[in-house]
Amino acid sequence: MSAQDKIRVGVIGAGQLARMMVPPAIALGIDISVLAEAPEMSAKRAADRVGDYKDAETVLEFAKTVDVITFDHEHVPQSVLRALTDAGHSVQPPAEALRYAQNKILMRQKLTELGVPVPSWRAVKTAPELQDFIYEHGGRAVVKTATGGYDGKGVRVVTSGDEAADWFAQLGDTEALLAEELVDFTRELSQLVARNPSGQQATWPVVETEQRDGVCAVVTAPAPSGSAAGAAALNEAAANIGTQVAAGVGVTGVLAVEMFETRDGRLLVNELAMRPHNSGHFSIEGSITSQFEQHLRAVTDLPLGDTAMREPHAVMVNVLGGPPEGAMPVRYAEIMAKYPTVKIHSYGKSPRPGRKVGHVTVTGHNLQAVKQQAIDCAAEFGEGA
Ligand code: ADP
Repeated sequence: MSAQDKIRVGVIGAGQLARMMVPPAIALGIDISVLAEAPEMSAKRAADRVGDYKDAETVLEFAKTVDVITFDHEHVPQSVLRALTDAGHSVQPPAEALRYAQNKILMRQKLTELGVPVPSWRAVKTAPELQDFIYEHGGRAVVKTATGGYDGKGVRVVTSGDEAADWFAQLGDTEALLAEELVDFTRELSQLVARNPSGQQATWPVVETEQRDGVCAVVTAPAPSGSAAGAAALNEAAANIGTQVAAGVGVTGVLAVEMFETRDGRLLVNELAMRPHNSGHFSIEGSITSQFEQHLRAVTDLPLGDTAMREPHAVMVNVLGGPPEGAMPVRYAEIMAKYPTVKIHSYGKSPRPGRKVGHVTVTGHNLQAVKQQAIDCAAEFGEGA
């Protein structure tokens, strides 16, 4: 076999996202290797290497065995990403793009520069600076750590600058916190976009995301709208923002643009994730091309697949917590008999309160029935949605 007969993708991955890239890789005959942090991590089911992604030497060794390096999280340090690029490896998305997913202040700066609508924001270094921002924004604000936050950790609603005193105390000289207006949103949306290094882009229909305690719980695809015209307008507006952001930050692979829809119908960008995202899991069964297949196509600079829905509606519900007696399969016999149309995904994780241990997806024509079935089924696995 000549070198061109093989496409080898290396994923630096911690968990279920890398794991879910494996089925499409197998279907396409792409050699996928996953560098996981620890043997017990969910990605390990797909992984052949265990090593520290913060260690340049480990990652460089891994990179030698593949044609392209990609990720299932954004935590690989810039120094390691630069070392890979300097050694001539293909890193997708590139280090330059990943910066904006690693630091919320840089991201806000870049989006503002691009003219993308975002909540009113300011980088603040002290409690009095935060207090000024709070005064200017009606007595309340959201404060976020610039780095290291996930699933709502690192996000606080505050009415006084002192409520972030502990975070200010930990800031280095060059660091700041992100202060933002508390957006009065009616719902949260997510626009998934894929972009390959040649610049081709594809967007999925914008989806609605519902969070519980800062964690994504339910995703409805496409985001419900009162009318067909309303849906078309919303999709166009969200897709325009998504493609503008993707090209503007130079991302490759899948990008999730999380947005707020305000009471007066505006879309404000909140967060960027540069990898397949929880809000795109519906696409495994719901779309002609799933986000996981698309990510592989995009990072290897292949033509992107069609992103149209296979059925009018798809609803994904996370299984949070899981059955107290063990991993999700302990309930399969009972649940599969009861819900033959539900597609069940288990990440092979043991149960823990609030932990994402899997998800379920239902597709169909009747949104209310589809959503109810997905919620009921997920609930039977444990804490449910
Ligand atoms: P994380 O990186 O932890 O996911 P996010 O910035 O996405 O943090 O914030 C988590 C959640 O907090 C959001 O999904 C939203 O519900 C809420 N939130 C974040 N920023 C704002 C804001 N400016 N106004 C209102 N709610 C917000």
